[in-house]
Amino acid sequence: MTENLLDLKIIGPIIRSSWTWRLVRLAMLVLLVMMIVYGWGQHALPGVAVKDPLMYTSLTTFSLWVVWMMAMVLIALIAGRSWCTICPVGWFNGIVSRYGLRQDLPSWAKNFVPVTLTLVLLQLLVYFFAIHRFPDYSSILLLSMLALAGMSGLIFRRRAFCLLFCPAGAVFALYARVAPWQLRVKSSHVCAGCESKPCIATQPFSRKAILGNLHLNWQAKPEGCPVELVPAEIHDSSACTLCLNCAQTCCNDNIKIGFRAWFTDLVHGVLKPGESLFFLVVLGLLTANFSKVHVDLREAIFWIPERLTLAVGWEAAGFYPIAVAWIGFLFPMLILVPGFLVYLLGRIRIVDLDNQAGSESLNQVVEPPVFGKLGFWGLVSRMIQTMLPVILMAHLALAVVKLNAKLAYLPLVIQDPSGVKSFLAITVAQTIPAPGVILSLDVIKWMIVGFLLAGVVSSCWVAWRLSHQVLAKTKQTFFVAVLVNILLLSGLYGATVYEWLFVR
Ligand code: SF4
Ligand code: SF4
Repeated sequence: MTENLLDLKIIGPIIRSSWTWRLVRLAMLVLLVMMIVYGWGQHALPGVAVKDPLMYTSLTTFSLWVVWMMAMVLIALIAGRSWCTICPVGWFNGIVSRYGLRQDLPSWAKNFVPVTLTLVLLQLLVYFFAIHRFPDYSSILLLSMLALAGMSGLIFRRRAFCLLFCPAGAVFALYARVAPWQLRVKSSHVCAGCESKPCIATQPFSRKAILGNLHLNWQAKPEGCPVELVPAEIHDSSACTLCLNCAQTCCNDNIKIGFRAWFTDLVHGVLKPGESLFFLVVLGLLTANFSKVHVDLREAIFWIPERLTLAVGWEAAGFYPIAVAWIGFLFPMLILVPGFLVYLLGRIRIVDLDNQAGSESLNQVVEPPVFGKLGFWGLVSRMIQTMLPVILMAHLALAVVKLNAKLAYLPLVIQDPSGVKSFLAITVAQTIPAPGVILSLDVIKWMIVGFLLAGVVSSCWVAWRLSHQVLAKTKQTFFVAVLVNILLLSGLYGATVYEWLFVR
């Protein structure tokens, strides 16, 4: 474990070199283009009854929905936003933005609302078209993301796509608060005394390449920090995309990147209001997704949208928008209600009005406000924040189960990226067996139990630490209230895991 990888002898210069990351990002961009090309036009197979035959054998769907979507949870748990270091879409957005109109992003757009709506839209696409099952739909999605990254780059400065439209980046930002990984300055005094500040400079400068008599001049356009951070002022790891621009350009070797204690940003910081909203939507979608394998629980969660759809007389397609509005916004708020009620109950004071002396002294006592010094939103944000570890571990559990079940398709996907031959060989000709799981159910089910327990214990510990940020008089009430929410949520997950892995 090291606090600064840049100090390591061999690894340090590799990380610091901009060419390392240019090459890796270029390789990722090539892979992305291959995913678009191989998936293009691939939907069903003539004469095959299975509706989504290429779901796991196509390079496009396998790489996007199995490998990337699931492995990213593991990466985020250990190394926060490290995926953003090599993300080809953010990189493409940053490059285009240097040559476009370079408009400033309006401040109202930086409040997580656009990215929350993008997540909701993606969920609707999954419901309506099952885009995760078909290579052609997934190709269109990837191409649209690249086009959007290019267009936002043409209009806005820096990585507007990452801020506005990337739900993955916003999820990484949440999990980066938990991860034991950070980029910081070594000394803020060194930054205060630095006049040139190349880490955030965006002014173009001239460059010349010389080879004998050959001279080549050009104007370099530095990107600066793609998300407008000042390294000396970073207090949490949620916004930094770990592009490493500041590490590469700092003229005082004042940037460090490496390990730290788990949960650092969670117990010392607080989610912004927009971030809390985004997290609530993630909580709702993930919990609904998790509950899919527990029939009774699933029916209970979707009971209200189903009744509502019937009540308004909409057909099946009308159910999806109602279901997304329910599980994305209302259902997660409902999860908060019991804890919130417990908190309010704990704040009730009973006064004996018949006791004259008591009522007089009551008028003289200055009561702290019901929600303490943090106010209503500050309190709710902290309540939401305590649930982050348990959600992260539930997300990890889903990811590990999926990877365990489907990662063995990888050799087939490499041999036949379109997935057609592999599918036919497995199901029609039956010349090769369907790839199985990597770890047995007996191993995986106890792993999942361990993840969930770790999430619950961590959430309780975070709740305990955060309770010290509220008024001394209310901290026990706050702690008990969030404990109720954490236990309710873990009860939902625990029931699902029991039904899914121990009963079936
Ligand atoms: S925020 Fe999204 S698009 Fe931007 S670098 Fe991260 S993953 Fe890529
Ligand atoms: S702080 Fe540094 S590493 Fe983080 S996004 Fe800004 S330039 Fe990139």
